[in-house]
Amino acid sequence: MAKKNNKGTNFPYRCSFCGQESSDSVIVPSPMEEGCYICSDCIEHLHVAVKEFLQSESSTKNNAASADELKKVPKPQEICEFLDSYVIGQDAAKRFLSVAVYNHYKRLAQDRTDDVDIEKSNIIMVGPTGTGKTLIAKTIARLLDVPFTIVDATVLTEAGYVGEDIESLLTRLLQVADYDVAKAERGIVFIDEIDKIARKGDNPSITRDVSGEGVQQGLLKLLEGSIVNVPPQGGRKHPEQRMIPVDTKNILFICGGAFDGIERKIAQRLNSHVVGYSNNARKGVNRDNFLQYVAPQDLKSFGLIPEIIGRLPILTHLEPLDRSALRRILTEPKNAIIKQYIKLFDMDGVKLEFDEAALDLIVDKAIEYKLGARGLRSIVETIMMDAMFEMPSTDTKHFIVTADYALEKLRKANFEIANV
Ligand code: ADP
Repeated sequence: MAKKNNKGTNFPYRCSFCGQESSDSVIVPSPMEEGCYICSDCIEHLHVAVKEFLQSESSTKNNAASADELKKVPKPQEICEFLDSYVIGQDAAKRFLSVAVYNHYKRLAQDRTDDVDIEKSNIIMVGPTGTGKTLIAKTIARLLDVPFTIVDATVLTEAGYVGEDIESLLTRLLQVADYDVAKAERGIVFIDEIDKIARKGDNPSITRDVSGEGVQQGLLKLLEGSIVNVPPQGGRKHPEQRMIPVDTKNILFICGGAFDGIERKIAQRLNSHVVGYSNNARKGVNRDNFLQYVAPQDLKSFGLIPEIIGRLPILTHLEPLDRSALRRILTEPKNAIIKQYIKLFDMDGVKLEFDEAALDLIVDKAIEYKLGARGLRSIVETIMMDAMFEMPSTDTKHFIVTADYALEKLRKANFEIANV
């Protein structure tokens, strides 16, 4: 029997859209139009249709915006040129990084309505300490308008141990993004010293490896893209702390490490591979620099777990810096050490010059004491200390640093004795 309607009659209400009667569904009357009704099924259909419409509208807008944004992004060659003005040599790493960063922007701008999903390609840079890994990362950060941060893998330990939780890697990213989660989710994280979380030895250990495999497993979650709860202030998570969920799917991870001793593993692999085969492969091998042949299996031999290696598909290396590279580093980059001292003296009205022999001497000392590029600054600082102390109180207008002067200052500061 039909239910009574509001007006007391026995006629059921009928949905004005689908014709369904109130006996089969909940019917809502129009507040505007008498005799006009809509049933709950139609409301549901409309709700879905409106939602889909709004989504497609916003994705079209986003794609259009992203395509425009992509036009503003520097092309790989431009990124590489920018790097050239700050970083000497390291051409392979610069090219890889330029392409990876450009592709990162492309992925952010991609059309998400089709089936092809451009996945991210995290990067790993292998190279001796002080050859420019962090410098490349920092220089790229100058150029980008996505949040970028550099974090150190050595502070990380497995949950429950002294140290920081893996999720805290993302705290800095959140901080540089002013806690704008959506912005942080498009960012780039440079993880330095990734080699320090390698497990000790190729075989999984039966004892606990606090800073090794457990940390790698934790890091894996971040690299593959998942929603992680990030402690807003970093450090250790504690139960009362409010966590911020961050999706790492679009965060690009660049890892760097010195991987001390990996050359031996590369050499072993290359030698064992050529045994029994023609010697052609061996002939082409440059034995002075095995790092250029680094391959994923070497990272595994070093102690990175295969899953992590799989999530860092771009593997590139940095060259050791030779004498001529060190010499160029002193004077050529936009931010070269010598240029910085010239600026310092110029602010006191003093024209500072270094003669060629003095520059050669600085490089010699950096090589002699195995200080690399990092040592150049401390050598120049030691040489210039007295002049920086005295010069502002004199009326000297022109000051030339000669090799004799440099050597005298290094000796006076016991530089040689301190650095043996
Ligand atoms: P790491 O490879 O250990 O991350 P860094 O990038 O921190 O080394 O380098 C230390 C310092 O040495 C830099 O701040 C920079 O002054 C200098 N340096 C190292 N490599 C280069 C390079 N290729 N070009 C210019 N400067 C460099």
